[in-house]
Amino acid sequence: MAGQWIDGRAVDGSSGQTIDVVNPADGSVVETLTLADTADVAAAVDAARRAFSEWSRVPPVVRSEALLALADRMRARADEYARVESAQAGKPIRLTTGFDVPGSIDNTLFFAGAARSLQGTAAAEWDGDHTSTIRREPIGVVGSIAPWNYPLQMAMWKMLPAVAAGNTVVLKPSELTPLTSLMLAEDASAAGFPDGVFNVLTGTGPEVGEALVSHPDVRMVSFTGSTRVGHRVAEIAAQQLKRAHLELGGKAPFVVFEDADLDAAVQGAVAGSLINTGQDCTAATRAYVHRSLFDDFVAGVARVMDGIVLGDTADEATDLGPLISRQHLEKVAAMVDRAVDAGATVVCGGVMPDLGGWFYRPTLLTGAAQDSEIVQDEVFGPVLVALPFDTDDEALELANDTVYGLAASAWTTDVVRAHRASREIAAGCVWINDHIPIVSEMPHGGFKQSGIGKDMSQYSFDEYTQVKHVSVDITGVADKEWHRTIFTNPRPQQ
Ligand code: NAD
Repeated sequence: MAGQWIDGRAVDGSSGQTIDVVNPADGSVVETLTLADTADVAAAVDAARRAFSEWSRVPPVVRSEALLALADRMRARADEYARVESAQAGKPIRLTTGFDVPGSIDNTLFFAGAARSLQGTAAAEWDGDHTSTIRREPIGVVGSIAPWNYPLQMAMWKMLPAVAAGNTVVLKPSELTPLTSLMLAEDASAAGFPDGVFNVLTGTGPEVGEALVSHPDVRMVSFTGSTRVGHRVAEIAAQQLKRAHLELGGKAPFVVFEDADLDAAVQGAVAGSLINTGQDCTAATRAYVHRSLFDDFVAGVARVMDGIVLGDTADEATDLGPLISRQHLEKVAAMVDRAVDAGATVVCGGVMPDLGGWFYRPTLLTGAAQDSEIVQDEVFGPVLVALPFDTDDEALELANDTVYGLAASAWTTDVVRAHRASREIAAGCVWINDHIPIVSEMPHGGFKQSGIGKDMSQYSFDEYTQVKHVSVDITGVADKEWHRTIFTNPRPQQ
């Protein structure tokens, strides 16, 4: 693979440097790519700018058909996508086959339909003299930046609504996981995307990412990543007053009320905290459990976590993959060590098994303080902290007590509690009696420091379009009544 996809072609990056894409499960090199630099950013943005005038004007059905053809091509290569995604991101093959790839194809089908049904308000004569209509127009070149945790899905969440609405895109995936984004660009081209509509750059964040965000022809920035880098992206975008769509970090609470189905909560906590080895912005990270259920919940979660199988990600029998890199593994382990130093107890896990990659055992902690780092900051690993509570008020207050607000779940069999929790928890998604499932039709996006804007669903068109009011005079008269507020002599000289 060349490393870059610019103007409908695979090309090498101009930096003269290469990068190894490494399988985190065993340290092997999956592929070596050339790295982009700022010259490639300029070329890709230029291609996207030139493609915009045609792509933004074609009838929506043309864009829809290109997306349907893309879905067909992805279906035909589904096994390859699943294999490459697993290898570059260290995901178990069961996860990429059952979630990442089919989810991405379903997103594509949703936006193929949605492209043809962008809605506006009805035309009307609000003042009696003018007919007003609303046009929903694409913005221009969108600079998209994606993280490594769901490389294919994040690339799709950014590209699909943007191109469906008539924008063109330059995507910078994480330099750790660019391979499925490059496959996607190749398939989009073969599916009928005109050259320049979708470009992909493999490059580093500080160099290529910042150059993309600050390019004057990029009219909108769509970023998914950490809250720290999100602040930097927002800062650069603000200097040029360009739109910034930000999907950032999370620290999801998991609230188990006293009337919850304990078995369901235990299984939900393990699945919700371990999905993608906990490298999921919506993963369950803080379990607040009513004191009457606390000991049984902790024992149940530890029992299931202890049975989780780590190992070869290509093996169907493997439950959990490694963390993305040695550096990230060391960060996760250090956070758990600091939690223990600060008084927390490791109920299970807390160790790095020697399996040849960057593995960390599923970990359950108790006894951490609400204001401690492990409860407040994103770990982004297979680590769940359990804390007891006594009253509903206390649980809801603790659930809201971080800077994040991306996702949350409440576990209860009481309909009143369920509704109260869904209203009072400040998060972009609140699950009741489950944690994680997403669908293409529903929005994903954070409150508070978890971001601004929505991915997926019709709501994402609010991010990738701008609304224009068109007002047409229907009186046909030169001498309009409102002119009297400006001048009193009504008739121009004949
Ligand atoms: P990151 O912020 O380190 O990097 C994200 C992307 O930004 C990468 O492509 C990186 O190269 C690029 N980048 C880095 N520095 C940059 C800069 N100065 N300017 C422009 N781009 C720059 O995040 P990560 O470690 O790749 O991903 C994990 C984070 O992503 C977690 O915080 C997670 O919660 C978040 N995330 C959020 C969502 C969501 O939908 N809210 C989804 C997935 C991941």
